[in-house]
Amino acid sequence: MRTFLNSAGFIDVIVGSMFSGKSTELLRRLDRYRRAGRRVQVFSCDRRYAENAVVSHDQRQLPALYAETAADLRHQLDWSAEVIGIDEGQFFDEALPDLCHELALDGKGVIVAGLDQDFQTEPFMVMNRLTAEAEFVTKLTAVCTRCGNPAIRNYRKGDESARIVLGAADHYQALCRSCYEQARKAGHQADLFDHED
Ligand code: ADP
Ligand code: MG
Ligand code: ZN
Repeated sequence: MRTFLNSAGFIDVIVGSMFSGKSTELLRRLDRYRRAGRRVQVFSCDRRYAENAVVSHDQRQLPALYAETAADLRHQLDWSAEVIGIDEGQFFDEALPDLCHELALDGKGVIVAGLDQDFQTEPFMVMNRLTAEAEFVTKLTAVCTRCGNPAIRNYRKGDESARIVLGAADHYQALCRSCYEQARKAGHQADLFDHED
């Protein structure tokens, strides 16, 4: 007989800044389910590093299906999957939280990783809504590239103003609350302090 815990669906959200380890944590959790014999399906709408994979900044990866919208994800969904992993949740449209809710009601575990705010500290509403819908939430921080304190901000180097500009350490720096304010005040001179690894 299946116990309540085994059959209950859930939403598990992993949020944080860039470089905070969201993709790494998503891959770690999915790997555990895979090892436990659960049927896992993985989606991402990020093609920065690979066509069809979730890839972390330190090059861990797992094959994934590419989906641009919640409808696109639904279309590719394997309804026999027990666990659904979704990376870069912030890039999906506002229908994603409702779809995750439906999947969780259906008994699936849905694990979504994504940015909680953009480079101007504006919340990504899809992730905020998912956080409200989730049974479990993990917030991760990166290491501030200037002072080493926990980083919650995504500081964009250069002067592009579009909300979505794909990039990694070439475009963005993880900064703590205080270094972010200083960098914004100092404008692009802040880039002079950059020390990428
Ligand atoms: P995310 O998906 O949140 O962007 P990843 O899981 O892809 O993060 O990458 C996390 C890895 O990024 C770390 O394990 C570390 O090797 C690397 N990294 C690079 N810059 C930083 C930083 N400023 N703080 C923490 N980790 C960093
Ligand atoms: Mg990531
Ligand atoms: Zn700092």
